[in-house]
Amino acid sequence: MKLTLTILPGDGIGPEVTAEALKALQAIGQRFGHLIETQSALIGGAALDALGIPLPDETIKTCENSDAVLLGAIGGPRWDRNPPALKPESGLLGIRKALGNYANLRPARIFTALKGASTLKPEVIEGVDLLIVRELTGGIYFGKPRGFAGGGATDGNLHDSAHKVIEVKDAVVGFNTEIYSVGEIERIVRMAIELARSRRRRICSVDKANVLESSQLWRHVAARLAATCPDVQFTFMYVDNCAMQLVANPAQFDVIVTSNLFGDILSDEAAMLTGSIGMLPSACVGGRVPLFEPVHGSAPDIAGQNLANPLAAILSVAMMFQYTFHLSEEARTLERAVESVLAEGFRTRDLLSSSVPGITRVSCNEMGDRVVNGIMQS
Ligand code: NAD
Repeated sequence: MKLTLTILPGDGIGPEVTAEALKALQAIGQRFGHLIETQSALIGGAALDALGIPLPDETIKTCENSDAVLLGAIGGPRWDRNPPALKPESGLLGIRKALGNYANLRPARIFTALKGASTLKPEVIEGVDLLIVRELTGGIYFGKPRGFAGGGATDGNLHDSAHKVIEVKDAVVGFNTEIYSVGEIERIVRMAIELARSRRRRICSVDKANVLESSQLWRHVAARLAATCPDVQFTFMYVDNCAMQLVANPAQFDVIVTSNLFGDILSDEAAMLTGSIGMLPSACVGGRVPLFEPVHGSAPDIAGQNLANPLAAILSVAMMFQYTFHLSEEARTLERAVESVLAEGFRTRDLLSSSVPGITRVSCNEMGDRVVNGIMQS
């Protein structure tokens, strides 16, 4: 198979972890006889420094002409004071939008060797293997109206033309709109159903239907689709209960489907079940070109020190093989290589719990090298 990939290393530890993911990617190519061509492009702070904008047109074009995109991370304190349109983060929102990906897949799975790294008791996290399917292009992050308004708007009459939108420093209220259409809900729930069919066939749809109209519509549409899929077991849960259940009994979940805002929060909570944010891959799919990225950010506190855990980026490559190229054996080989490196006791700093015998601390690139060895020897 010939694959053309665009790599967006980004900022902070992004270039470090994508370099290791690329090594693993090429090792899989070599091992299974795939020709993998890669090209790099600028995004985020790196693009701001080079070209003055966080998402150059050239980057969008390069991504659009590839089979998949692998992104490292974006952002950092150097650009924090930039106006919103010139923040690195707007590059990330922009590329997701440009590629049309409306679903964010975030698995959280416990590697046996890391049971002790979670803050939860080993018996609570035993067997956790869940997938959060987060709606990515709708909801409160994009809903209109949004903005700041002056005093007259406190009565909730934001649409009155007398209450013009103003800057934060002059504002008395800030407002956002949570909005979902039937079409947006249907397509994300349908995707969750397809994904559940390749797993344990259980879906928990999470909302706040006891309070929010948008959630009532979400639940109504999800329930209607559930009725057409007797092979998939559906449950419904309020988001506050789900947040609690994720730490009380996380192994009960298979697929969780939810909105942009709830998915953002719940997936970070689920992240901590695994012990480190450095272990969590993700995929943005559903559009023209899928984008794969570790869940973590640019970790400015450890950037440039060869300390980052590259496994989230490497596992993002495994997701790429699984979900986009439908090459399950390649995905499993990568995952097995990660499992065996962890089982042999190698850990980056973020995974070290104090004084465990038989554990060896490794740097970011040593971890990458060990995964490559694992791939080539399997
Ligand atoms: P972060 O994920 O960058 O870091 C949080 C903590 O986790 C830090 O202590 C960091 O050292 C640690 N960490 C993260 N990834 C790690 C890894 N692979 N290995 C070892 N340790 C790791 O989140 P933050 O500090 O809130 O944000 C830093 C910057 O990243 C901000 O500018 C933020 O906007 C940006 N950000 C980007 C993305 C993205 O690119 N998708 C996501 C979240 C945050």
